[in-house]
Amino acid sequence: MRFIVALLLLIIEAPTPAQEPRVLLLRPARVFDGVDPRPHSGWSVVVRGDRIDAAGPNLAVPAGARVIDLPDTTLMPGMIEGHSHLFLHPYNETSWDDQVLKEPESLRTARAVNHARTTLLAGFTTVRDLGTEGAGYADVGLKQAIEQGIIPGPRMLIATRALVATGSYGPKSGDPLFAAKGAEEADGADLLTAARRQIGAGADVVKLYGDYRWRPGEESRATYSETELRSVVEAAHAAGRTVAIHASTPEGMRRAVLAGADTIEHGNGGTPEIFRLMKERGVALCPTLAATDAISRYRGWNGATPEPAAVKEKRASFAAALVAKVPMCMGGDVGVYAHGDNVREMELMASYGMRSADVLVAATSGNARIFRLSDRVGAIRPGLLADLVAVAGDPSVDLSALRTVRLVMKGGEIVRQEK
Ligand SMILES: [Zn+2]
Repeated sequence: MRFIVALLLLIIEAPTPAQEPRVLLLRPARVFDGVDPRPHSGWSVVVRGDRIDAAGPNLAVPAGARVIDLPDTTLMPGMIEGHSHLFLHPYNETSWDDQVLKEPESLRTARAVNHARTTLLAGFTTVRDLGTEGAGYADVGLKQAIEQGIIPGPRMLIATRALVATGSYGPKSGDPLFAAKGAEEADGADLLTAARRQIGAGADVVKLYGDYRWRPGEESRATYSETELRSVVEAAHAAGRTVAIHASTPEGMRRAVLAGADTIEHGNGGTPEIFRLMKERGVALCPTLAATDAISRYRGWNGATPEPAAVKEKRASFAAALVAKVPMCMGGDVGVYAHGDNVREMELMASYGMRSADVLVAATSGNARIFRLSDRVGAIRPGLLADLVAVAGDPSVDLSALRTVRLVMKGGEIVRQEK
């Protein structure tokens, strides 16, 4: 009897061909591995199940593998968007105030479903989504729907509601005391409570606004004290979460760096001194060049000279950050402009002085390291998840190649393939 049971177990557990992980051999013209700025000509990549199994030159076709030829393309890691808002759509369609004040959460969620698909199909297989901007905790369900395969979309790191100092954040066009806010207001000891509540509800990253305009038309000023920020950073890090702080003023940035933030968002007014401090403390900058560019165009700028003051300031601060060798995140604040146009930030990084290959590294292994995802994504290396994108041409020479996507794969599944 014992023998029969053992035999039955053997039969049940013996792998049938259908249970074998699927094996693919991808043969592009070259492989950009996400780490080495130089692409490797003639490399191929083996994908087994949801993982990368091998990458290198002269790989033999594994038994039972399906071969996918990708002539004239560069195969690279799926890109990582560092600063998105899937619950926002371009401000020239509807102002930010009106999106927060007038659009129901259900409508915003329906849009977010489309935005998630468009982002994935553009080759961005992971996003760090930095706040729903008034859509509550709807990002928690969106992320679950993607993880459960209900809808297509990128892997998501989410921030839920984000945190602002009471009275500082908008919208300011509604009743200042009773209108909905774009993030959760909390200060002092309550700030720590609110941060912990957001983490418990699903936040992978805690997002705070470290400076803002108290009234429309004013300059931004630092909001949270360094002590307030530090209390949240300690709680977030203890919980294994990272902290992203919106800061554009030197004082707001300084407090964020000293408090231990992982990334600073925008950094518009960053000075050489602040960037040296960021480099020293290993704090990354997410420059959001495309948001400033887009907003300037919505206000009537034609993209040529004379450049508006905001664009000039952004160019200068980005250049200073490059000189200081600040770790550079790739994140454009997409949502201000169209989802799926994430490459816009990368093109601006290059046109503002960063080498194309360095921009590619920032959007892959760089963001993976800053967001603590290096053990899963961001490079073409055996053992990592098979999140891959093939684009026509060589983006390490010309980033516009990223706009001609031939194949997108997420976790070994092909989600887009062009003939
Ligand atoms: Zn943002």
